[in-house]
Amino acid sequence: MQLEIPDSKLVVASHNQGKVREISALLAPLGLNVVSAGELDLPEPEETETTFEGNARLKAEAAMTASGLAALSDDSGLCVDALDGAPGIYSARWAGPTKDFAVAMRKVEDELISAGAMAPAARSAHFVCALCLALPGGTSQVFTGKVHGEMVWPPRGEHGFGYDPVFKPAGHDITFGEMDPDAKHAMSHRAHAFAQLVEALSPSGI
Ligand code: IMP
Repeated sequence: MQLEIPDSKLVVASHNQGKVREISALLAPLGLNVVSAGELDLPEPEETETTFEGNARLKAEAAMTASGLAALSDDSGLCVDALDGAPGIYSARWAGPTKDFAVAMRKVEDELISAGAMAPAARSAHFVCALCLALPGGTSQVFTGKVHGEMVWPPRGEHGFGYDPVFKPAGHDITFGEMDPDAKHAMSHRAHAFAQLVEALSPSGI
């Protein structure tokens, strides 16, 4: 289905500064007029669904309804194989009410130690990103991307956000936290989902 963004105006349905920064960088070449949910003071809906896709849809539709604009949401997280996919959709919650990712990264490492997952081969993980574009007419579409890699300890690097310092993408020696932002944007779960979104936008929509 071809999608069209009315008046080229789009609200990024996220209150997470790290995500808003990355999504804005990915959107920049499209020449859209982008505003964030925070700037419009939109409420942050509770994430009550059980999948990345469901939560992405919930957030985009809430922002579209509240603003009357096309809305793009991102629901994403880290899935660690030795932890049966945890923290998964609860990735943000593992950082606790103060959103302290030093705590969240430590918790993942503690769980890996408890699971006996010390060898690199036992520490495989992937990030998932579900982007949802909700249009004022009621149409919405979800695009999902993944990037595979391995959990490292201790955390390395000051770039990015969330779990970036403990995630080393496959085929690389450095973590997302150590990587130049442009290099992360070229290979991340968010970039893979984004490429599908761009494909679905009609030329007149961008
Ligand atoms: P949510 O989509 O608002 O539920 O939050 C997703 C959480 O997953 C974020 O707060 C981060 O902790 C984590 N996450 C998602 N994408 C990334 C990424 O690109 N790097 C590091 N952590 C991420």
